[in-house]
Amino acid sequence: HHSPGDPMSAQSHPLVIRDLVKSFRQGAAAVPVLSGVTFTACRGEFIALMGPSGSGKSTLLHCIAGLTGHDSGQIHLNDELVSGLPDRRLTEIRRKQLGFIFQSFNLLPNLNVRDNICLPVLAAGAKVDAAFLQSIAERLGIADKLSRRPGDLSGGEQQRVAIARALLPRPALILADEPTGSLDSHSGQELCRQLQRCCADEQQTILLVTHEAAVALWAQRVLVLLDGAIVGEFPVTPGLSALDLAARYNELICTAAK
Ligand code: ADP
Ligand code: MG
Repeated sequence: HHSPGDPMSAQSHPLVIRDLVKSFRQGAAAVPVLSGVTFTACRGEFIALMGPSGSGKSTLLHCIAGLTGHDSGQIHLNDELVSGLPDRRLTEIRRKQLGFIFQSFNLLPNLNVRDNICLPVLAAGAKVDAAFLQSIAERLGIADKLSRRPGDLSGGEQQRVAIARALLPRPALILADEPTGSLDSHSGQELCRQLQRCCADEQQTILLVTHEAAVALWAQRVLVLLDGAIVGEFPVTPGLSALDLAARYNELICTAAK
């Protein structure tokens, strides 16, 4: 609970991260990967997380999703402190409140598309909203693929199945780790359009990792991670071009690396 007067109590936030620290063991040594990450995501906000390879982007997403632990600091999901919660409770929260879109689609090859999409909802013991599933599938252009196996689909189609799977539970927070990484630029832009609609229509919050300025351009704000620390951020203002965005990103990286 927050005390009166605490700015946190005024509004609920899907995601608040404070001083997140994480290192990996390498033999006897601890290699730092996240060294005090702090930021807040608002409801309906689309945030792009950019940073060089190895800067800790995937690790940050995995920490938020509870797929890996952290050494210190706090992660709050919808104003609930999830750091240090028992695994069972974490799994429950994750299933209800988080959608995760991986770069590799992680679809089960022996299940058809419909069953792949429904799996997390069923695993959470909830009922599938068939009308909502149909509307998502139509929006993503996979309504005619629901009975097929993932192996019959193109890469772009498989990625859209993975997105449908993340959207069906109506999670407050969607984490996407380079979701356009294996798509051509047209499919990538289409995916971004879909995600942006989720923010606008469903007031969902998206934290999306990308290397591509043209992808980050769909976000409202860019966070820049370098060596496990956020070295800067900037809003994506109307009229900003992909070239402008790349220049601001490079400026932050180069300034921080000096
Ligand atoms: P990014 O997604 O930004 O490319 P990662 O979060 O994957 O970065 O990795 C950040 C750093 O943490 C890298 O140096 C990587 O080698 C290291 N790392 C990631 N996962 C592990 C792990 N399971 N064990 C040891 N080191 C890891
Ligand atoms: Mg990564």
